[in-house]
Amino acid sequence: MRTLLIAGNWKLNPTTTEAAVALAEGVKTGLGTATDVHVAVAPPFVFLGQVDGVLEGSPIGLSAQDMYWENSGAFTGEVSGCMLVDVGCTHVILGHSERRHGMGETSEVVNKKLKAALEAKLIPIVCIGETKEERLGEQTEAVLLEQLSGSLAGLSPEQAAGVVLAYEPVWAIGTGLTATPEQAQAAHAFIRGWLAKVFGEATAARVVVQYGGSVKPDNAVQLLGCPDIDGALVGGASLKASDFLAIIKAGQ
Ligand code: PGA
Repeated sequence: MRTLLIAGNWKLNPTTTEAAVALAEGVKTGLGTATDVHVAVAPPFVFLGQVDGVLEGSPIGLSAQDMYWENSGAFTGEVSGCMLVDVGCTHVILGHSERRHGMGETSEVVNKKLKAALEAKLIPIVCIGETKEERLGEQTEAVLLEQLSGSLAGLSPEQAAGVVLAYEPVWAIGTGLTATPEQAQAAHAFIRGWLAKVFGEATAARVVVQYGGSVKPDNAVQLLGCPDIDGALVGGASLKASDFLAIIKAGQ
């Protein structure tokens, strides 16, 4: 009943409009007009408008990598949900570990952004995941619990059903180390169990939970074959259209 979502998180890449447009064109051309899975790309803010133009007529969603919780006002440097919708965004990534750990973003902040994203009718992709030290210290479930309960606080079951979660073990991001399908499936099952407890079984069955962390064409089939893994949030491998397309194919 859940449709897979394969999303490309371009992070702080590429560095020119020309390269961003070329990458989007490569994905669009390779994908064609019909897919069994949902696909989205997340370029840096400054390229969103141009990439939206490229994606016209394709089924590929457009995602931002972050947003602020206020719509407008004296918030220097911020970008709001209504602005993202205005330039064509359908999705927004929230609480990526590079923001949680690199920019000190707390689950409370992610929660404010999440509520604003839902208000703006963007599909939020909320990232959660433990560090290497936390996994070695057997804190994985405690960390996921804190991030889930903090980030999703105050949501109704209906709202929760519209949230995409991305389980991204921090130790697997950009490191070439991937969680084994067993490790990933165990974390995803834990996440779905928590969703069932808090929002009910029916809602839990609807929530798309992506895996992220060094997803590549050669490990995608195995990961996407796990029962509770509903897609992938792809960083490095989304910067090459052929690799990203191969991962999408693995999900079909
Ligand atoms: P990676 O990044 O695929 O390069 O590990 C994933 C992510 O951070 O979303």
